[in-house]
Amino acid sequence: MKALEGKVALVTGGTGGIGTAICIKLADAGAKVVSTYNHEEQAREWQSRHAAMGHEFVITRCDVSSYDDCVAMADRVKADHGGVDILVNNAGITKDGTFRKMTPDQWNAVIDVNLSSVFNVTRQFVDAMTDKGWGRVINISSINGQKGQFGQTNYAAAKAGMHGFTMSLAQETARKGVTVNSISPGYIATEMVMAVPEDVRAKIIAGIPMGRLGKPEEIAALVAFLASDDAAFITGANIAANGGQHMM
Ligand code: NDP
Repeated sequence: MKALEGKVALVTGGTGGIGTAICIKLADAGAKVVSTYNHEEQAREWQSRHAAMGHEFVITRCDVSSYDDCVAMADRVKADHGGVDILVNNAGITKDGTFRKMTPDQWNAVIDVNLSSVFNVTRQFVDAMTDKGWGRVINISSINGQKGQFGQTNYAAAKAGMHGFTMSLAQETARKGVTVNSISPGYIATEMVMAVPEDVRAKIIAGIPMGRLGKPEEIAALVAFLASDDAAFITGANIAANGGQHMM
């Protein structure tokens, strides 16, 4: 039997670079995978492309920055799939700018999509997980939430806040079979990072002791491990996967 057979996994922003690798890895481990999407046309195309390659993902619309949208999405997921055992809060955006130029819109958008979303989505599923006595919440944070980053006061604050959420909820659910953990990826070779001009990318890579970018599959493997029964004693942790770029 596969490690996640019989489990339902919900991945927010599952259609993105890291999200896609997470969806594939969880499905390969036996889970039924539901991904939220924001843009319908791209999500439908993503779904059929992966179906053609043997992965049948369910997709459902949800703006994770809207609490009401999350309530409606959760109602659909519960009706269609009976609930969620593994929740991966992965959706995220950047709206970079130095602090002196940062607008309230840039600040609010990043806090809403990257941090408030974790409350909005998790709130819908944790009670059922604790009632059942088994659940996994995995929050995709960032190296920049651990070390800060020039031009990212909004993003770093949201990603650091995400781990504060992780540690607190982990304490509330520890005795109920529900673990809550963060993963803090370093620079990962997604489309976004590969679109950075080559000379800038070379400078980023020069600052990574391993001398390379991470692979989305390496983050996905960590998610699958944290979702498994083998990781039952790990909770409230923030696991770095950054090629040695930041050690704490
Ligand atoms: P992508 O931009 O490829 O994917 C982000 C996903 O989030 C997309 O599917 C997007 O959907 C979704 N999303 C954005 N806004 C919303 C919203 N309001 N409601 C619902 N979904 C939304 O990013 P990555 O795969 O690179 O990043 C995934 C996560 O990993 C993010 O949280 C990011 O901060 C984090 N991370 C990434 C690193 C990297 O090097 N790539 C490094 C460290 C952390 P749509 O396209 O439909 O808008």
